[in-house]
Amino acid sequence: MSKPNFLSQLTGCFSIPADGNPTVLMVEAAYNAAGTNIRYVNTEVTAENLSAAVAGARAMNWLGFNLSAPHKVTVMPMLDEIGQSASIIGAVNCVVNKSGKLIGENTDGKGFLQSFTEVVDPAGKTILIFGAGGAARAIAVELALVKAKKIIIVNRSSERGMDLVNNVKNQTGVQAHFLPWESNFSIPEGVDAVVNATTIGMDQYEGKVLDLNFDSITSNMVVCDVIINPPNTDLLAQAAKRGAKTIDGLGMLVYQGVIGIKYWTGLDVDKDVMRKALQEIKG
Ligand code: NDP
Repeated sequence: MSKPNFLSQLTGCFSIPADGNPTVLMVEAAYNAAGTNIRYVNTEVTAENLSAAVAGARAMNWLGFNLSAPHKVTVMPMLDEIGQSASIIGAVNCVVNKSGKLIGENTDGKGFLQSFTEVVDPAGKTILIFGAGGAARAIAVELALVKAKKIIIVNRSSERGMDLVNNVKNQTGVQAHFLPWESNFSIPEGVDAVVNATTIGMDQYEGKVLDLNFDSITSNMVVCDVIINPPNTDLLAQAAKRGAKTIDGLGMLVYQGVIGIKYWTGLDVDKDVMRKALQEIKG
């Protein structure tokens, strides 16, 4: 498929509210470093205009696009096909134009998985995830699809936690359990990796720390956080102090970009350029 030159097609058509958007800066840095003239632009689309926006992307033969909440679920019936993990997760954040067909994928969990796999092979591992929202859902499903041994979900709302547990068990056949989030929660024995997929640790949650007995983290565990702002969370600092390997949220975001660009363009871009672009925003 010929690659449309986005610059000549779109310049002057609409304003691009990209200032400070980490994904825009990261993807544009990768495109520039790869010497392409493909562009990644950010547009704000209201819920009532989503269908028209998708039709517009089709009409303009865009290579694809990302979506953020609340469009990740509502876009699904507007697409021609949904990838396996996106279908199990029940959300699409990346749409790929394959010869005119719009395919919905979910790169949230795939980005996490790639970052995780650089440090440890998830196959056969017991992994405890704090959270049951969009990020936790995507991570749990991708880990199950690569044959993690067991997924343990710990979440404030037990209803949401159980819903994710049932989804993983029924859709992937992998063992999954829910544990209530008791105060000063201790990580049970046998856990190989821990993931914070809640919003705790973000700047706007200043002062809030994961309600966890940090002494239950052991040096043979891998401890991961999805938070990108700031990436050096309290959880990761506490884990590093106890000799655990740590993985920050920037890796997940960078690999989402790498995977999305590969889907759209076939290019293997430089992840280090993307990580550097993110670190520059964080100052
Ligand atoms: P959701 O709103 O879907 O889910 C939020 C989760 O956090 C829920 O499990 C919620 O529990 C839990 N939570 C929120 N506040 C508290 C609290 N005070 N105490 C205990 N639990 C709490 O958000 P997402 O899943 O979409 O996003 C989660 C985080 O992941 C965000 O910080 C987001 O920025 C980050 N993220 C990072 C990505 C990356 O590439 N690094 C990609 C995607 C997301 P409950 O169900 O009980 O409400």
